[in-house]
Amino acid sequence: MKINNNAVKSTQHKRLSIGIVGGGIGGVAFAVALSRDSHLDVQLFEAAPQFSEIGAGVSFGPNAVKAIQRLGLETSYQRIADHSPAPFEDVWFEWRRGTDDEYLTASLAPGVGQSSVHRADFLDAIVANLPEGIAHFGKRCIEVQQDTNSATAYFDDGSHFTGDVIIGFDGIKSAVRHHVLPPEQYGEINPVWSGTYAYRGMIPTAELEAALEAKGSDKRLALVPQMYLGQDRHILTFPVKQSQLINVVAFITDRSTPYPKLSEGEEWVQTVSQQEMLEVFAGWSPACQAILERIPAPTRWALHELPELARYHRDRVLIVGDAAHALVPHQGAGAGQALEDAYVLASLLMDEYCDRDTVSDVLSAFEQVRHVRTCKVQRTSHEAGDVYEYAGVGIGDDETKLIENLETRFDWLWNHDPHDDVIAARQLQVVLT
Ligand SMILES: Cc1cc2nc3c(=O)[nH]c(=O)nc-3n(C[C@H](O)[C@H](O)[C@H](O)COP(=O)(O)OP(=O)(O)OC[C@H]3O[C@@H](n4cnc5c(N)ncnc54)[C@H](O)[C@@H]3O)c2cc1C
Repeated sequence: MKINNNAVKSTQHKRLSIGIVGGGIGGVAFAVALSRDSHLDVQLFEAAPQFSEIGAGVSFGPNAVKAIQRLGLETSYQRIADHSPAPFEDVWFEWRRGTDDEYLTASLAPGVGQSSVHRADFLDAIVANLPEGIAHFGKRCIEVQQDTNSATAYFDDGSHFTGDVIIGFDGIKSAVRHHVLPPEQYGEINPVWSGTYAYRGMIPTAELEAALEAKGSDKRLALVPQMYLGQDRHILTFPVKQSQLINVVAFITDRSTPYPKLSEGEEWVQTVSQQEMLEVFAGWSPACQAILERIPAPTRWALHELPELARYHRDRVLIVGDAAHALVPHQGAGAGQALEDAYVLASLLMDEYCDRDTVSDVLSAFEQVRHVRTCKVQRTSHEAGDVYEYAGVGIGDDETKLIENLETRFDWLWNHDPHDDVIAARQLQVVLT
């Protein structure tokens, strides 16, 4: 392993040297898992001057909670995680009609329910497990190259890192992706706006409970996770920060054209007026008004996603997490997929069999096992947005079909143990060798 930073770090003889580009939730969890294996040299390069996440909530399905357990991060996670309150422990979300709060059904995740955290708290909690000396900040990767023996990441401060493999955990605008899927061969691959804007905000729980009661609504709608559905719009709420805050996301989608475009130069994230958000949801229920009126300065996110990529792997370089399969958040699944990737890949790289000569085959086996699932999560996440907004194919605004869909559509996603992917990839390697 070589980091050229006007100082070359000492190289101990290790089985494998791994460079990770990107220190978001996925990259840090991955680095923590690898750092437990003394035979691996692990270095993480983050563009920002420090680890950071936004002050919003993130929700995890049972599969993601399983990945967190498998990564050995359960204690750190459960210390800060929120759950649906009794007697709604198994409820992931209750679904309601947005115009009148009428209850439609609930999606149940037995034993897990809604499991959510404040993003910044979660990142801090996993960073606390990362040994010193692994993370390097202010390292924006601008290019990746490789030859038969090594792979190199180049950074915008003029330094570079050479190791046996480079793993791109660098998010939806990934720089590593250009190397894995060269534009000359695959065309330009850019994130695409989904047509959906998401307004985000947080409300102190006691404040929202009082506002709900003042509108004649049940105050339990604050703490029990809710989704309010309507034509081309929906609103979700769930508690974070040990139920002190309610995380709110309100969505509106432009379905007037198949390929909606943002205005030239429009920022993906902007602070907008409360008035704009209230106008989008004019005529919605008292509970929805109570929620939105408590968000004085919402941020508006233009939700982007990637097309399903032809591949994630090129010899000694691999992309994972949002870099490989960024998706819209309608199944609350993107960070969960990044954590599944982190567990599966770390397990395979820690196998004794995996060394600098075999690692390319290991990355290939990882891709073969993960590609179908992650593409399906991307596809169904987009479809989920359509379903919630009365635009699902064959469902539309038929509430009977909507209810049937919402009660079952997450089963395949949630009932998955990422360790099964590890076993499948190991079996593939046996076949390949
Ligand atoms: C509105 C919204 C709500 C969401 N809600 C949920 C939810 O409830 N549940 C869920 O599971 N998912 C949710 N997601 C998706 C989730 O946020 C992502 O899937 C997840 O953060 C991906 O993690 P990652 O580590 O792959 O990438 P990121 O979190 O994007 O991290 C990438 C890291 O790489 C760094 N980086 C970028 N470029 C470079 C470079 N060139 N060089 C070095 N470093 C670089 C970045 O600074 C960042 O730290 C939501 C997304 C949105 C937009």
